[in-house]
Amino acid sequence: MIRVFTFCLSLFIGLTALSSAQDFSKVEIKTIPVGDGIYMLQGAGGNIGISAGEDGVFMIDDQFSPLTPKILSAIANISKEPIKFMINTHWHFDHTGGNENLGKMGVIIVAHDNVYERLSTDQFIKAFKREVPATPKDGLPVVSFNDEVTFHMNGLHIKAQHVKNAHTDGDSIIIFKDKNIIHMGDTFFNGFYPFIDTGSGGSIYGMIDVAATLLTQVDDKSKIIPGHGPLANKQDLQNYHDMLVQAVNAVRPLTKKGLSLEEAIKLDPLKDLNEKWGGGFLKPDQFLGIIYQTIADHNK
Ligand SMILES: [Zn+2]
Repeated sequence: MIRVFTFCLSLFIGLTALSSAQDFSKVEIKTIPVGDGIYMLQGAGGNIGISAGEDGVFMIDDQFSPLTPKILSAIANISKEPIKFMINTHWHFDHTGGNENLGKMGVIIVAHDNVYERLSTDQFIKAFKREVPATPKDGLPVVSFNDEVTFHMNGLHIKAQHVKNAHTDGDSIIIFKDKNIIHMGDTFFNGFYPFIDTGSGGSIYGMIDVAATLLTQVDDKSKIIPGHGPLANKQDLQNYHDMLVQAVNAVRPLTKKGLSLEEAIKLDPLKDLNEKWGGGFLKPDQFLGIIYQTIADHNK
């Protein structure tokens, strides 16, 4: 019982670090050129993708609301053109916090239908026991799609492709066609255990599917922008995929035996992975807690 309480408490502390109560005054926005007028911006929250060119700025995700002025000035250093479109890879507040500011500037916000649904209504993130109020109208997508949509601008064909039940039920990966560059949103945490929002329809099996599918499409020259962590290549994605598969393989026998989560935590099934992957956003027991029930349910 104490273990469960500690688990919940540490999740709560982890969340507080991510919430709007965070002090953003010291956050700096780093601009990382990816190639072909495409950039990755890092600050706090999810990695932002930018395409800058003669037709204007295309933006992927927008971190937290207090960071909007810094993000806009980082973008202004790349391009003097206005931001035309901003697409959300999913509904989480560390990727959509700037939506309202951008919407008020006249930026067209685009997202998957399920992102529109979740942003339009009050949400509850079960894993963090956190209520997230609906986004005001100016921050909502004005265009939503159910499968895929392609933007033709700056000499690029930028495809947003919905992937089913991975990090949430509304994830999109953004593919810069012919440029070998992909933004994977939170279907990819580069270098550490991912948060999987099972309360919003996420599943570790979907996460594995996305990584496995993309691994058949990328090559050694591909550049992959993850939702969190540094710019990645194919090998990084392969390592991440293999970790997810290894985690499922380690946990599945325990769920088959019918062990409770507390019993499973004592057996430390992820011990071979924790040193390399457990030092990030989610601690090892948190990751185990998040995937355990999904795997148990899948085995039923
Ligand atoms: Zn997320």
